[in-house]
Amino acid sequence: MDSLITCETDLSATGKHHGFLRLPHSVHHSAYGWIPVPIVSIRNGDGPTLLLMAGNHGDEYEGQVALTRLARDLQPDDIRGRVIILPMVNFPAASAGMRVSPIDDGNLNRSFPGDPHGTPTQMIAHYIEEVLMPLCDYAVDLHSGGSSLWYPPTLLRGQGHTPDEAEKLAWLQTAFDLPYAWVFTGGGGPGSTARTAMGAANRKGVVSVMTELGGGGALDPGILGLTTRGLRRVLHSLDMLPGYVPDTANGTRELNSKGSVYAYDAGLFEPFGDIGDMVQEGQEIGLIHFADTPWRDPAPVTTPWSGMILCKRAIARVTRGDALVQIAADV
Ligand SMILES: [Zn+2]
Repeated sequence: MDSLITCETDLSATGKHHGFLRLPHSVHHSAYGWIPVPIVSIRNGDGPTLLLMAGNHGDEYEGQVALTRLARDLQPDDIRGRVIILPMVNFPAASAGMRVSPIDDGNLNRSFPGDPHGTPTQMIAHYIEEVLMPLCDYAVDLHSGGSSLWYPPTLLRGQGHTPDEAEKLAWLQTAFDLPYAWVFTGGGGPGSTARTAMGAANRKGVVSVMTELGGGGALDPGILGLTTRGLRRVLHSLDMLPGYVPDTANGTRELNSKGSVYAYDAGLFEPFGDIGDMVQEGQEIGLIHFADTPWRDPAPVTTPWSGMILCKRAIARVTRGDALVQIAADV
């Protein structure tokens, strides 16, 4: 593989090992320097390989902390198989607390399949798709809503392209036991052109789910707890954490996304509803106020779909093209 990224950690070794992916980056203040993407490998005996990633978007935090905790807590004797953990996978973005990398403006989850000779973000995407994914049977990419959106704890997955994959995806969803699951309709598969980590997983035959966990650039302790619990339940469900005793599942409400409702005016968005509220087609779901023209009537925002508010914007100021809420309907 022609990646210029090297891995300090021997991913084939038994036991727990940590280090960095070294991404060569020659700049003014560091001529021979490299960007350090932290990586932890825990391996014990036979079993599947599970890739766990967070910090794909750098301003999404529950996953970064849950994986940091898992990397410290999991011991080789606890597991069967191999867990590869990347808590800050787009390290420049994650260390800056930004959705995209400040080095190249790269949005990692729009950069797959990447480019081994491209920008740092493109090089990371290429390394994940061409070096890490082929080692893996399963992958979980942990996102939150980021600075601009709020989500309730939600698992995102495809429907599967074979009966076997469909069964495994449903299995992972049940194991993770988040309150909501957003099940994609269509797309994906081995021929996927998706630029996401899930697209990379599909192209390499890796069974993959992602999450949305909170948002607003914050870290919610309750959602962090559900994430930590869910990851251990997933490991247990794959027979990779035999000593764990899962508690009773809470159950997951399955939804299909209808789409996002967008702003057509620039101003201050006042939402009428909250996440979990049911709305009807044509219903007014908020107002955009014009504080710079206070004698102008606010612009009403209506939803073109009936369903549940799954996600909402975390920033009051909006401009044309901003997503305000996402509407989803029960499967
Ligand atoms: Zn994200």
